[in-house]
Amino acid sequence: MDLNTITAVIRPRSRAELPRWQEGDAWLAGGTWLFSEPQVHLSRLIDLTDLRWPPLTISEAGLSISATCTVAALDALACPSDWLAAPLINQCCRAFLASFKIWKTATVGGNLCMALPAGPMISLLAALDGVCTIWKSDGSERMIKVDDFITGPQRTTLTPGDLLRQIDVPRAALKRRAAFRQVSLTAVGRSGALVIGTRGHDNDLTLTVTASTKRPIQLRFAAPPDSDELRDAILRDVPDGLYHDDIHGKPAWRQAMTLRLAEQVRGELVDQARP
Ligand SMILES: Cc1cc2nc3c(=O)[nH]c(=O)nc-3n(C[C@H](O)[C@H](O)[C@H](O)COP(=O)(O)OP(=O)(O)OC[C@H]3O[C@@H](n4cnc5c(N)ncnc54)[C@H](O)[C@@H]3O)c2cc1C
Repeated sequence: MDLNTITAVIRPRSRAELPRWQEGDAWLAGGTWLFSEPQVHLSRLIDLTDLRWPPLTISEAGLSISATCTVAALDALACPSDWLAAPLINQCCRAFLASFKIWKTATVGGNLCMALPAGPMISLLAALDGVCTIWKSDGSERMIKVDDFITGPQRTTLTPGDLLRQIDVPRAALKRRAAFRQVSLTAVGRSGALVIGTRGHDNDLTLTVTASTKRPIQLRFAAPPDSDELRDAILRDVPDGLYHDDIHGKPAWRQAMTLRLAEQVRGELVDQARP
């Protein structure tokens, strides 16, 4: 839709060209959310496209994803063969409720900054121990883990003028075995629960619960829990009040789905380890 309160669009080409932040400003990434509903409080957009950040960089350290990388570009990434967790990338990219137009334009950073519980890039990058780099308007930077970056539905730790620059995923996380489960209330609905488990070479197991909860929750186990231990841990560490409530699912249903999907994830990761 047209945003008819916008009087200026700025296209900086470097950090030095970023304008001084003022009330009524918004960063413009893919624009799939910004242009999907009225934004009467906005008067100026700062388009991130011309910064031309390289979308994806593979190095010894792991994978670096620029905030402006599109979901489609991430989905097309050819991953090294020892990244056992690589299938999660495609599974999460396809967990969007979106047409191909959204998919090709929406950015990874935009998805994180939107902080919707059903944000599949949040699920992916929380499960892979991603770390956000944030450019502050005073020229400094700060780093924060993805699961700490998201504090609630449409709430992050960003303050006005903060710009998410990139998300770094450590190689060690990409080399873990992984299992993915997702459910929606309707056939093409937004995710009602999305659970990812990863298992390391030391036999430890991490469970990341998203979509059903208001923010990502991680449960870490030194060894794979049995069914009862897993269930008890979820009931203990994910209080009832943390389950999200909206048109895409009631809290009681989301909790039931979380418990069911977590058990399936546990089973898959334990079975994979058997000779
Ligand atoms: C039909 C449809 C279906 C959708 N389905 C889903 C879905 O299933 N799950 C889901 O989570 N979302 C969904 N969305 C919402 C949205 O499209 C996605 O969250 C998308 O990933 C947002 O990315 P974007 O690049 O388009 O962000 P934009 O629309 O450009 O920006 C979104 C917000 O983030 C801010 N922002 C963007 N980049 C940065 C940055 N680098 N630093 C700081 N702030 C930034 C913007 O200022 C704005 O407030 C859907 C939208 C539509 C229209």
